Amino acid sequence: MTVIRSLMPYRAGTILGAMPHAVESGQAYAAGGGHRGTESPERLLDHVADAGLRGRGGAAFPVAVKLRTVRDGGGRPAVVANGEEGEPGSVKDRWLLRARPHLVLDGLARAASITGATRGYVYVSDPYAAARVRQAIAECPPRIPTEVIETAHTYVAGEETAAVRRINGGPALPTAKPPRPYERGVGDQPTLVSNVETLARIALIATHPERRHEIAGSTVLTLSSPRGGALLTEAPYGTTLAALATVQGTARPVGALMGGLFGGLIGPEALGLTLDGAELAAAGTALGCGAVRFLGPGSCPVATAADAAGHLQAGSARQCGVCVSGTAAIADTLRQLTDGSAPPDTEERLRRWSSGLPGRGACGLLDAAAGTAGSLLRAFPGLVRTHLGAGCADCAAAPPTGGHRLVVPVPPVMDHLGQRAHSSPESGPERVSPSGPR
Ligand code: SF4
Repeated sequence: MTVIRSLMPYRAGTILGAMPHAVESGQAYAAGGGHRGTESPERLLDHVADAGLRGRGGAAFPVAVKLRTVRDGGGRPAVVANGEEGEPGSVKDRWLLRARPHLVLDGLARAASITGATRGYVYVSDPYAAARVRQAIAECPPRIPTEVIETAHTYVAGEETAAVRRINGGPALPTAKPPRPYERGVGDQPTLVSNVETLARIALIATHPERRHEIAGSTVLTLSSPRGGALLTEAPYGTTLAALATVQGTARPVGALMGGLFGGLIGPEALGLTLDGAELAAAGTALGCGAVRFLGPGSCPVATAADAAGHLQAGSARQCGVCVSGTAAIADTLRQLTDGSAPPDTEERLRRWSSGLPGRGACGLLDAAAGTAGSLLRAFPGLVRTHLGAGCADCAAAPPTGGHRLVVPVPPVMDHLGQRAHSSPESGPERVSPSGPR
């Protein structure tokens, strides 16, 4: 079960509203100020730039720069709302599309007005989110033709070049860069691929420009732990990781897995860090999509690293040979550590892979696997050695599952009649885990 609780006082201009378990209708969205705002596209772009809004999909790229690049790229631009959430520990994007589809569609239309895009796409694998967005489009037709494009869920399907490739009629697999979508994307035209939370924040800035810094200064997070429930929350940047662990319910955390699987592991000394991109980067980690998994006493970082690497190994799109062999080597070695069967040179091999593999795949998946190994060595020096030949009791009690236990369920969302919006189990649809049979 995933609980929803905002750390911010509710007010218009936040993403998690007063009724986060309810589907927001078009009427309710408009009544709350949605679709309003007389700002010109140029003025809205200035506000987005002034607020310092950064993308919420993982890379935290400055949004205004991306908008300007697509606008100035010539041709007939397109805009894509990317709701394909590949990280197993993140639910915010699917929740947002299920519960507040009008907010995302409003943001998509605002981004289109800034870039001059004439077509919009909502890209997602979650069938319930897709249905909710289609319903919202029918209820309140967007200003530009907007299509929902569904894809099969995989770890890499949400990568921006994979999204473009799928919308263009191909498989949802990453392509080599350049060109990047802002140069040549959907229909070979400049394309803005933007995370759905990012678009939602553009819409909020449009309707509440006076609060633009506050809107750009908070983020939606999915917090979880191996032994506790998960929490979907919204928090201001500057909040410490330790405070988030407390809110999530992990007492005396010994570390965390950051950014979904892209921020690696951090040790207990790093829990004083705050939600600040520069601060986290200086410490060698990242917030990514805002998914943080806290490890409490009894949760071994080696088992968590093995789970993460196992998930990445299974999620490899198997296009790049180095990714197939590299993720398998890292995952197998970390698994061996958990049961005490790893060879004596394990530490040296993990160190070599963590420095030699990043940047060698077409997408970032291989980097994430290498980063997992490197961060384990950095954050928990000595832990690999203590696992050699002996394994560990915590790992034996909770052996790696290939990443299955990293999956966080989407919180339930109800329609205005108080019925579940979809005939799905309470936790939302089971996701097709890339760790399953292929
Ligand atoms: S790095 Fe891995 S996941 Fe990414 S495109 Fe290559 S094979 Fe696929």
